[in-house]
Amino acid sequence: MKFEPEKKLIFGETLEELEVFARDTGQPKFRAKQLTDWLYKKRVQSWDQMSNLPAEWRNILDEHFELSPAKPLLSKESRDVTNKLLMELTDGSLIETVLIRAPMKGVGQRRSRTTVCISTQVGCAYGCKFCASGLLGWKRDLNAAEIVAQLMNVCHQEDTMTQRATPEISSFDNIVVMGMGEPLANYDNLMKAIKILNADWGLKFGARRITVSTSGLVPEIEKLSEKSIQFRLAISLHGATNSTRSKIMPINRRYPLEKLIPAAKHFVKNHGRMLTLEYILIEEINDMLDEAKKLVAIAKDLHAHVNLIPYNKVEGLSWKRPNIMRQDRFASILKENKVPFTIRREKGHDINAACGQLRLKAEKPDFTR
Ligand code: SAH
Ligand code: SF4
Repeated sequence: MKFEPEKKLIFGETLEELEVFARDTGQPKFRAKQLTDWLYKKRVQSWDQMSNLPAEWRNILDEHFELSPAKPLLSKESRDVTNKLLMELTDGSLIETVLIRAPMKGVGQRRSRTTVCISTQVGCAYGCKFCASGLLGWKRDLNAAEIVAQLMNVCHQEDTMTQRATPEISSFDNIVVMGMGEPLANYDNLMKAIKILNADWGLKFGARRITVSTSGLVPEIEKLSEKSIQFRLAISLHGATNSTRSKIMPINRRYPLEKLIPAAKHFVKNHGRMLTLEYILIEEINDMLDEAKKLVAIAKDLHAHVNLIPYNKVEGLSWKRPNIMRQDRFASILKENKVPFTIRREKGHDINAACGQLRLKAEKPDFTR
């Protein structure tokens, strides 16, 4: 069933759409810009606080739009550096957004780099065998407002904790679209959300600091190749041969490597930006030396950066994380062959692992532990 809220969600409206709304409700065009300033710069959370908007128009806005599409339930601050925001959407669906604070070795001052990992769907239809999000299947796509609202909730939380230098600045450094769901299967909503996040009138968040991760939807990668987009693309490879990849990623049967690699190549050629290949290391599934050598060939062909992610245990699944020795052996093949790569091991610092752990729960999880 298609989810249709009674009121429209304000965080899904572009400035142009709000200008039309202003005109249709008897207001001058500039009201729309005043409204977006309240939403994205001053970041107030009630219509009443929008003091330069006429009271009667605020009432009209309230009748037509929902100001908070995603209600933050509880935020779990773990001992390390991750912080999860659980949100209940207007239809009762639950999604999680993760904040990962990684300390930066800096010049004198202590600062951490904050990355926000967002979801694009409730559940996921692609059923990768190792992934928590795929376990319960796909429930629905998030709309653009629900994608944007995850970031706005983070802003609202962070704004209360830190003194903002200027109201223009968001409190995080990077966005990774690596939470629940396959972003490119929700293409239009994702594109609209990125446009709002990126716009001068919106969050003004640089698209180059946004990374979209896909399990390899070839037609959408082709489509992105033809568009002038600025965000970064990461491809979840996880297998350097069709037989390995098909074993753990059902999508490989529809888009095998001989289709995926040329599409990725086309993307790199058209955008001139380095691609990231994500590669989860799962014991005796894809961590063999032979597989590493084949990964070298693919990475070289694509001039890609490889992100090695030691598998994070998912409850109910039997896959194992290889021991450090096996991880090092695999990584050494990339090193010897001069393939740029990263491998993150520390708990909580591992953005992908933290994101990959997002899981659709049938009931509200216990966030108090
Ligand atoms: N659907 C997209 C984006 C969401 S998954 C995709 O597949 O790329 C984001 C990343 O987390 C992917 O690379 C995914 O393979 C990884 N991931 C999923 N489960 C994981 C786990 N248990 N441990 C480590 N990484 C995981
Ligand atoms: Fe979906 Fe990505 Fe998980 Fe695969 S890894 S099931 S595509 S969220």
